[in-house]
Amino acid sequence: MRQSSETFNRNLHFKAVVVAGVICSMLLLVGTAGFLFYQTRLQQRADEIQTLYKDLLDFRSMLTKLQLAEERPEIFRKVIQNTTPVTLHSLNYPELGEQSRLSEIAHWLQSQHSMLEKMLREIEMQKSGAEGIISRKILQLDEVMLQVSLELHHAHEQTSGTIQFFLFIVLLILLLFSGGATTLIIKNYRQTVIPLNRLAGTLLQFNKDLPESIHDTAEDVKKSCPKDCFSSDINRVTETIVTFCQDLEMKNRKLDELFIKDEKTNLYNYRHFKEHLIGDVARAKRYNDLVSLAMLDIDHFKAYNDANGHIAGDRVLQRIAEIILEECRHTDMPARFGGEEFAILFPRTDAAQARGIVVRLMEVICAEPFERERNQPGGRLTISAGIATFPHDAQGWYSLINNADRALYESKSTGRNKVINYEEIRTEGSLS
Ligand code: GH3
Ligand code: MG
Ligand code: MG
Repeated sequence: MRQSSETFNRNLHFKAVVVAGVICSMLLLVGTAGFLFYQTRLQQRADEIQTLYKDLLDFRSMLTKLQLAEERPEIFRKVIQNTTPVTLHSLNYPELGEQSRLSEIAHWLQSQHSMLEKMLREIEMQKSGAEGIISRKILQLDEVMLQVSLELHHAHEQTSGTIQFFLFIVLLILLLFSGGATTLIIKNYRQTVIPLNRLAGTLLQFNKDLPESIHDTAEDVKKSCPKDCFSSDINRVTETIVTFCQDLEMKNRKLDELFIKDEKTNLYNYRHFKEHLIGDVARAKRYNDLVSLAMLDIDHFKAYNDANGHIAGDRVLQRIAEIILEECRHTDMPARFGGEEFAILFPRTDAAQARGIVVRLMEVICAEPFERERNQPGGRLTISAGIATFPHDAQGWYSLINNADRALYESKSTGRNKVINYEEIRTEGSLS
């Protein structure tokens, strides 16, 4: 429940960042378009004011020229003749606004311009004189020019201010968005990458330490990584690894059992038995110790199978194996040697002790009521056994088996249902 709400929250965060990203991008797009449009209009207005100012300047320089000539009547008329009125551009500019002061100035300039044109023509035709008109116009013009230059300055300020404001907003949006995204990335990094690395490191460490069981490893990983330090996803991964390790461990145990045990009797198989035998004999050799080995064989088992079938024979095998397990000591090692033969390894045990255990075992088997055993020779199911002891009866693990087998053969050939120690049949020079 907690995990799913955590995942839900993270998905929500992620979606929020994506939505915020889309909104920011759209805002930037629309904002940039709006800014460009507004900026173009501002620039256009500034250009128009600039043109108006230039017209005023041109007009003023023409008036100045006439004013200078006014004081020298001999050239005044000549100057008038050569003066072409300036071409004015500042009329009907849309950005100045129809009702605005600047538009009024533009119109005033036009009227002054045409008035001056008319005046010059009249002076030229000697209808009238300039009579100080030019000086007054210049004074008037200067006042107007001051106003226009202020407007021009203001228009430039507005243009650069808009650019600065726009850049500031863009920067703010980018900062807010990248801040949000970075927080989310760091949070996710903390919840996923760091714990994953820790998990990998822990697993690596456990692998190096060669743990005895994978199950322990999985449990240790679980303990060493408290749940709270992981996000729900990582917890799920951890749980999966732990479950996987536990399953693997269970299967490994089964495999181990299959590898060392005999399926039918659940006793150790010959492979595993031989490994122990070799090890025990080597240890006994090193520490001057004893190892006894008993070989057991069911008497007339072929006859039992023939009479009762192999399934019944199998049940006998299984029951005898159970009795062997029950009667042996914890340190002894019983195994199915093959067919209806069993072997028991008695570490640190002399021949007499081993014989005692085997005799007891034979008695129990003899007393056990096996199904339809009455048909067996002698009316009951029995076993024969042979025992050999290291180092008295053999000098290595192989000859220990061999000599125990010889003793067993002797039991068989001398009547069955008995146990013989190899020392009883040993002759001079037969020890190998
Ligand atoms: P002896 O007293 O001389 O040992 O006679 P025996 O009949 O027991 O010996 P023999 O070697 O002639 O026959 C061994 C029989 O053991 C033959 C075989 O069918 C039986 N046997 C071996 N393994 C199994 C098994 O796994 N299940 C069953 N039911 N019988 C088995
Ligand atoms: Mg046999
Ligand atoms: Mg037999």
